[in-house]
Amino acid sequence: MDSIFTKIINKEISSEIQYEDELCIAINDVNPKSKIHILVIPKKPIENINYASDSDKEILGHLMLVCQKLAKKLQIDEEGYQILTNVGEGGGQTVMHLHFHLLSGNTLTM
Ligand code: 5GP
Repeated sequence: MDSIFTKIINKEISSEIQYEDELCIAINDVNPKSKIHILVIPKKPIENINYASDSDKEILGHLMLVCQKLAKKLQIDEEGYQILTNVGEGGGQTVMHLHFHLLSGNTLTM
């Protein structure tokens, strides 16, 4: 299922790319909710975490480590940050292509 993120991955829509490799792309969120707000998106169009399977283990682990590396690169690893994924409309998901929000500077509290 194509989403706006497929177009971003295929460079049909421009975005501010923070990182890219064969498995994922990380871009600045167009409507940032915090000082740093990056979306880490797998190139495989998994709808959300509900649709991930055992064969996606490598991708999922990779996305976490990309978040970790971006946090180090942006020097927010010491002060702290959040990694968040919304699941389904009821969970606040608006783009139906799995992504992790990397957020810093405006901590959401639970
Ligand atoms: P969700 O609500 O699905 O968890 O998050 C989707 C995020 O994608 C939102 O924070 C929204 O601002 C961001 N977004 C939607 N369309 C675009 C776009 O075209 N470019 C970028 N960079 N971010 C987008």
